[in-house]
Amino acid sequence: MDKSIIVLFREDLRIHDNPALFSACQEGNVIPLYIWDEETSHSTSGEAKKWWLHRNIDSFQSTIRSIGGRLFLDAGKIEEILPKWVEKTNAQAVYWNRVYEPKVYERDLKLAHSLSSQGIEVKTYEGSLLLPPWKIKKDDDSPYQVYSAFYRSIRKEQIPEPFPSPEHLKIPTFKEEGISLEDLGLLPSIHWYHVMESIWEPGEEAAFTRLNSFLESSLHDYSEGRDVPSAGHHSTLSPYLALGVISVRKVFHTLIEMKNKPVEPFIKQLIWREFSYTVLLHHPESTTRPLNEKFRKFEWQPNEGEWEKWTKGQTGYPIVDAGMRELWATGYMHNRVRMIVASFLTKHLLIPWQRGAEWFLDTLIDADLANNSMGWQWVAGSGLDSAPYFRIFNPTLQSKKFDEDGTYIRMWVPELNNLPNRYIHKPSDTPADVLEQSNITLGKDYPYPIVDHKAARERALERYEEIK
Ligand code: FAD
Repeated sequence: MDKSIIVLFREDLRIHDNPALFSACQEGNVIPLYIWDEETSHSTSGEAKKWWLHRNIDSFQSTIRSIGGRLFLDAGKIEEILPKWVEKTNAQAVYWNRVYEPKVYERDLKLAHSLSSQGIEVKTYEGSLLLPPWKIKKDDDSPYQVYSAFYRSIRKEQIPEPFPSPEHLKIPTFKEEGISLEDLGLLPSIHWYHVMESIWEPGEEAAFTRLNSFLESSLHDYSEGRDVPSAGHHSTLSPYLALGVISVRKVFHTLIEMKNKPVEPFIKQLIWREFSYTVLLHHPESTTRPLNEKFRKFEWQPNEGEWEKWTKGQTGYPIVDAGMRELWATGYMHNRVRMIVASFLTKHLLIPWQRGAEWFLDTLIDADLANNSMGWQWVAGSGLDSAPYFRIFNPTLQSKKFDEDGTYIRMWVPELNNLPNRYIHKPSDTPADVLEQSNITLGKDYPYPIVDHKAARERALERYEEIK
């Protein structure tokens, strides 16, 4: 009799290059199962990400149906629900691709141990990274602390080829039905996600369409253009990578096979993602604690009113406000702008990076605990291989450099539409007659800056001196 194997899906909602699914298909009958466990995963607990998860589970159900299977759904604590499924389906084995979020990883280890001790075979696979996060180490066996050395080392490694998609699933017979997608309760009760709905198409096919259109139209300009938010030369693959709708190994090998194309700048970014998972594995505390000890004594000065204005995109710095509004509307923000808004929060407003990181996890559809924690610590100056603290972004100069003609600002801060390019980066410097001609009353149509850049910079540097 064929072995019945439960394949537990989490951040691997795809059939291509899915090692757990592929192995199960080779070895027996397959029971595809998704269990929504609200309590464990930080990366999927945000409201925006839950919407994206709902949409992708929906799409994945159709994909699994197209190869003759059915994706079963359930909700609750995995350590309680999964053993029940094993019993009800008479499964002899459970396979999954590993998730490295510390709480989930710990829980999975215990679960594997407990199932094995009951005679259930458990196999785990690498499904979300190019290589397992413990693989790349220095000669003395310690993990890399610096990205550039990590990058050089991983580029010498052979990255496993992607697995093919299974063509057909053999499903065992059993009575359990599971629950419906709606019963997972992932969608918010208020329909605030209409912009996201119009932008983001879920599913593997959509992910490949995005990858291919990026490779055709933007790869060539990626190195130069990736820092310009309105240029559209970035891939926007992060939401798909964050739920494993597209495999990073598949993306990597697609690039490597392209002859005479400038693929390395993009590969470098994929490797930042690998690096962030290595940091997370070796420093699970990095999601909430500064990695640089000195910063544990840093004196923040949070102000609730300023926090509110930052979250709502009402700081009076157009590039910051554009970014925060893009985030709220689309569940995404361009990388350069993420750095600008994060620097503004931590340095101009002296609000702890942990609070900004939580906000991002709640509002990003690409929320990813490893990338997010590393991104925030990097900007705040407290992470491994971080930007030095004293490099405080001047939001106006960043804006002039990366959004020269104000296209990005005009898209998200339409009340500044009529301002000439010269003034759009800092409306408070605009002469009164130009403001009048542009139909803008500062303080009414658009806020005055909530802090003065020069004074805020000096205050931040003073605070830094105290811990140096
Ligand atoms: P592209 O430029 O097209 O890059 C391709 C892929 O490379 C990305 O999809 C991503 O997987 C990876 N990548 C690119 N830049 C980085 C980076 N700096 N660090 C790690 N991986 C990178 N990324 C997330 O996926 N989730 C997050 O929650 C997240 N939070 C961040 C918070 C802050 C404060 C900062 C500064 C960065 C954060 N990033 C996060 C990293 C980066 O901003 C996004 O990965 C990138 O903007 C996604 O857009 P893209 O797919 O078009 O990127």
